[in-house]
Amino acid sequence: MTDAPCTHIGAISQVKHAKRHECEECVKIGSGWVHLRTCQECDRTLCCDSSPNRHASKHAKSSGHPVVASAEPGERWLYCFPDEAFAEY
Ligand SMILES: [Zn+2]
Ligand SMILES: [Zn+2]
Ligand SMILES: [Zn+2]
Repeated sequence: MTDAPCTHIGAISQVKHAKRHECEECVKIGSGWVHLRTCQECDRTLCCDSSPNRHASKHAKSSGHPVVASAEPGERWLYCFPDEAFAEY
């Protein structure tokens, strides 16, 4: 990717897409979510910062996996949590 806003996004050559269209952590605890994000390191699909549990953000902090992709239909962007950087792809 050219003109990547951070080195984490710059290192992604192939975007990983959601395998499941649900937040696996919210399903476990019986909660709901607003939007879904897919971790670009481990393929896990988790909920966004507008969701009550913010699992994608928590996962990024605890795992050190910085970049997620939007798992929403028609959205093609990546986000790096530590750098707060967006990039379309
Ligand atoms: Zn970054
Ligand atoms: Zn969740
Ligand atoms: Zn991950």
